[in-house]
Amino acid sequence: MTTINWSMRARDTDLRIRNFMEGDHVSHSVDNNTIVDLGENPVTKYSPRDGRLLYTFPAGDSTDVDRAVASARQAFENGSWRTLPCYQRKAVLTTLADLVETHKEELALLECLDVGKPISSALDDIAFVVGCLKSTAEMADKLRSASGADGGNFSYQLRKPIGVVAGIVGWNYPLVLAIQKIAPALVMGNSLVLKPSEFSSLSASRLAALAIEAGVPPGVFNVVHGRGTTVGAALAHHPDVDMLTFTGSSATGKQMMIAAGQSNMKRLMLECGGKSPYIVFDDCPDDLDFIAADIVETAFPNQGERCSAGTRLLIQESIKEKLLPKIIEHTKKIIPLDPLNPDTTFGALINETQLNKVLAYIDSGKEEGAELIYGGQRVEVTTEETASQGYYLQPAIFDNVNPQQRIAQEEIFGPVLSIFTFKDEEEAIQLANNSSFGLAAYIATENLGRANRLAQSLDAGLIVIVGTASPSAGGIDLGVEPHKESGFGMEGGLAGLTAYTVSSSVHLCL
Ligand code: NAD
Repeated sequence: MTTINWSMRARDTDLRIRNFMEGDHVSHSVDNNTIVDLGENPVTKYSPRDGRLLYTFPAGDSTDVDRAVASARQAFENGSWRTLPCYQRKAVLTTLADLVETHKEELALLECLDVGKPISSALDDIAFVVGCLKSTAEMADKLRSASGADGGNFSYQLRKPIGVVAGIVGWNYPLVLAIQKIAPALVMGNSLVLKPSEFSSLSASRLAALAIEAGVPPGVFNVVHGRGTTVGAALAHHPDVDMLTFTGSSATGKQMMIAAGQSNMKRLMLECGGKSPYIVFDDCPDDLDFIAADIVETAFPNQGERCSAGTRLLIQESIKEKLLPKIIEHTKKIIPLDPLNPDTTFGALINETQLNKVLAYIDSGKEEGAELIYGGQRVEVTTEETASQGYYLQPAIFDNVNPQQRIAQEEIFGPVLSIFTFKDEEEAIQLANNSSFGLAAYIATENLGRANRLAQSLDAGLIVIVGTASPSAGGIDLGVEPHKESGFGMEGGLAGLTAYTVSSSVHLCL
C-alpha cells in the first residue's frame, strides 16, 4: 500500500472559496467568475495546525443569498428534480455517494486543513458521508403515508417536497453535518441552499460540483459562503425559503426561531448544543479498563469539539477510587499532534478564538473551586514546515465539580471533562437532568431494569447503554430528536425524512 504524503498534497490543494449557484461556481457579489476584490472585512481563515494564513474570501452579503435562493426556487419550480420518479433521484444520490468515495482523499484533506482534525478522522467522516448518501438514497421510495376508506369515500395523504430548504451548519464536522441536511432534502425532491460555517468553507462547493457530475440538475444544490450574522441571517430571514434546517449552537438556534417568526414562519429543524452526561454505576461491566477507555473516547472525540461528547462524568461513589486512575491513564495516551500525520488521533482546535474560549473555561473551573487533576495546557507541536503556532490543547479533567459551576452547565466545545459523584439512581437522574441541554446520555450498567428506567427518565435524544459489545453510539439509524435547548426535529433515519415534506390529506368524495 502506498503511503500518502499529506503535507505535499496539502501544498498542491486548491483553497479557493467560491459560491455555487445555478449549477456552477460563482464568485461573490459579482457576475463573472473572477474575484478581483476581496471587499471590506473579508473572511480570513488561519490554519489550525500552524496558525498561518490558509485562505481569505469576500464576506458575502444578502445579494449572494438572493441569487442562491432564486437559483433554488427556479430549479424547484421547473420540476427538473422534484418531478423525477424517486428511483431516479435514488440513482443520482447513489452516484454522488460513489463520486464522494472516489474523491475521499481530496475531501478529507479539505476537512483536515479547515478543522484541524486528524486526517484519519477526516477519512472516517467522508466514509460517513458516503454511507449517509447511500442509506438515504435507499429510503427514496420507503416513506409511507396513511390511507383509509369509509363507506364509498377514500382518503389518502400526499407527501410533497417543501420547496426551497436552507441548511445552515457549524464547523466541527463540515460535510457530515451538511450531508445530514442535503441527503434527506434532496431525496425528497427539494432544492437546497447550504451555508457552511465561515470557519470551515473548503469542502461544501466541491461537494456541490460533484452533485452536478452525479446528475443533480443545476440550481437544485447551491452553496453560499459568508458570516453567520450577515449571510446566515439573510438566509434565515429570507421570505422565499420554506424550511430552515440548522446545526449549530443553541444561542444561534434561538436566533433562527426569531428569524422564522419575523419572516415567513418557515419550518424549522434545530440540532443544537449539548452537555451530555456519562453515568457509571457500580454494576457496570467488570472490565473497568474498557469503561475508562470508553469514557475518554466519549469525552474527547474530535478534540472535544462534538455536540454529543460525554463531558459530564457521573460516577457512583463506591467505584470512583478504582475507576479514576484508569481514566487518567487513558487520557495520558492522548497526545495532540499535526493533523496531517496519518498516525495522529488528536489534532488541533479550530481556531485561536475557540482555544482561548476553552482556556478561559479551564480558568473559570479553577476559580470556581473545581480541582484540575489532569492537563488543560496549551502545547506546541512542530509540523513538517514550521515550529507551530497551531491551536493545540491537552485534554483537561476536573474533579469535585459543583453542579452549578459554569464548566458544569455551559457547553465548552473543547476537551474538558467534569467529574461528579452520586450515591444512588435517583441522585444520578437528578444530576444528569440538571442541564438546559438534552442531546445525549451514556449509561454504564449491566442492570437492564435500571437501564430501562433511566432511558425513560433522562432528557436526551440519544441514549447509549454502554456494554462491552458496543463501545460507542451506533447501531441502526433510527434518527435522533434532541430535547430541551439542544433543539427539536428528528434528524436521520426514515422518520427524519418526513421533516423535509409537507402533506396534503386528500378525501375522494366521489
Ligand atoms: P454557531 O451557532 O456559531 O454557527 C452555526 C452556523 O450558524 C454557522 O454557519 C454560522 O455562520 C451560522 N450563524 C451564526 N450566527 C448566525 C445568525 N445570527 N444568523 C444565521 N446564521 C448564523 O455554531 P458553531 O460554533 O459553528 O458550532 C458549534 C455548535 O454546534 C455547538 O453548540 C455544537 O454543540 C453544535 N452542534 C450540534 C450538533 C447536533 O447535531 N446537535 C452537531 C454539531 C454541532
